[in-house]
Amino acid sequence: MTRNLFWFRQDLRVNDNAGLWHATQNNRECLALAIISPQQWQSHDDAPSKIYFYLRQLQNIQTELKQLNIPLIIKTIPWWENIPTYIASLCQELDIDAVYANTELPFNEQQRDTHVTTALAKLEKSIHLFEDRTLFPTQSIRNKSGEPYKVFTAFKKTCYERLSISIPRCYPLPKTQIKVDLGNIENESITDLISEFKHDKNHLAFQLEISEKIAQKKLHDFIKYKISHYDEKRDIPSIDGTSQLSPYLNIGAISVRQCLEEVLKDNDYIFSIKSKGQQVWVDELLWREFYQHIMVDFPHISKHLPFKKETQKIQWRNNSDDLAKWQHGETGIPIVDAGMRQLKQTGWMHNRVRMICAMFLSKNLLIDWRVGEKWFMQNLLDGDLAANNGGWQWSASTGTDAVPYFRIFNPVTQSQRFDPTGEYIRTWIPELRHLDDKQIHAKAQVSGYPQPMVDLKASRERALSAFKNI
Ligand SMILES: Cc1cc2nc3c(=O)[nH]c(=O)nc-3n(C[C@H](O)[C@H](O)[C@H](O)COP(=O)(O)OP(=O)(O)OC[C@H]3O[C@@H](n4cnc5c(N)ncnc54)[C@H](O)[C@@H]3O)c2cc1C
Repeated sequence: MTRNLFWFRQDLRVNDNAGLWHATQNNRECLALAIISPQQWQSHDDAPSKIYFYLRQLQNIQTELKQLNIPLIIKTIPWWENIPTYIASLCQELDIDAVYANTELPFNEQQRDTHVTTALAKLEKSIHLFEDRTLFPTQSIRNKSGEPYKVFTAFKKTCYERLSISIPRCYPLPKTQIKVDLGNIENESITDLISEFKHDKNHLAFQLEISEKIAQKKLHDFIKYKISHYDEKRDIPSIDGTSQLSPYLNIGAISVRQCLEEVLKDNDYIFSIKSKGQQVWVDELLWREFYQHIMVDFPHISKHLPFKKETQKIQWRNNSDDLAKWQHGETGIPIVDAGMRQLKQTGWMHNRVRMICAMFLSKNLLIDWRVGEKWFMQNLLDGDLAANNGGWQWSASTGTDAVPYFRIFNPVTQSQRFDPTGEYIRTWIPELRHLDDKQIHAKAQVSGYPQPMVDLKASRERALSAFKNI
């Protein structure tokens, strides 16, 4: 009997999993593999909380796979450079002749997969990779000259045209497989791995329930109860008006196809949008899509380089004291501090506040956006290279289709507009809870809370001239 091996990466689900489904289709025995690389992941700035969340879902996957007769091999390999040799020897030892996986899009991941392909080819074994992280295969959305889009609106328009012709359908759950006897193969305990990354009780990585079913219920409830008001509520950080699916999407506990399908379920799977809320939410899924496609077409953004190369010349300030105040929510600008404290305590931050905090660092403090990108990545439960890089380069005006450099958010005005009653600020900054709705947004002499670290007008001018100078 020949065997297939499915290698799990950022796709921890058994439903609608392209690679897993294909690996289980040809009447062979199917095994699964998960490689844990904490050192490599942390060198890519993955937050320990994200690793913890990932491992918790991996434990669920092991149970789900058992029901399908697919044994899961778990192996810790600290650094990816050792993966090709390991997979090649595993395939020899267990008589596996084909490896299946879903493509990972960042540059280093693609390099790793190229080395695995070469190692397997030497043994005359094959690897089959499937595009599973996006709605459309990367490099398939092109303008009339066959070039990748650099502007979101045009990219989105083409995506909508494609969706009106056909909607990417979800893959079914694989059938139960032929039982496999692995003999005495050594396996690691996920419980031990989980306890190494355990998080405290205030952290979302600990609080959020995780399984495919939970992710699907979250999606279902969001579409049923919240999506119709999404356009009005998504920008208000004190309201629970967004799906909060990003941690699940990023480890692949749910797929973007499943998200779209749930929106269109009532429509016989014909692509038509029924409300403004649906429209805006699908647009956000397409922002995610856009940044993933950009990362493949412009791999330099995976290498700490700005999308717009000329912005390399900006003279960023290198000030570790100012950076530390921003990181720990001590800037004296309440909305910024609320966001940064939410991030530190829970591993999550509302999208509007992410933009405000990112712009405050890169414009008002004129600190290199890459330092902020790294801090977000090191703390976000939903940290994703493409979305995080896209969000940061948008805010810093160094990215594709970024905010123009002269449109600098005033954080106080943003706060008055999007947190008018100060409820969000009060949640995260207890020192300011007693202030009224007007006072809470701007500087007030409050003992135990810092004065604003910069003058907003002067720091805005400083940023404008730094950008004009290039
Ligand atoms: C500076 C900055 C950094 C960011 N870093 C990340 C990150 O590391 N990981 C991440 O998933 N998102 C990131 N985002 C995008 C966005 O903030 C989050 O996706 C969103 O807040 C997640 O909440 P939600 O799941 O409730 O989103 P919803 O509003 O319900 O949106 C649904 C899904 O669409 C996608 N999405 C929504 N907005 C965006 C966007 N602007 N860009 C890309 N995808 C989007 C996400 O996958 C999200 O889960 C960042 C944005 C900024 C401005």
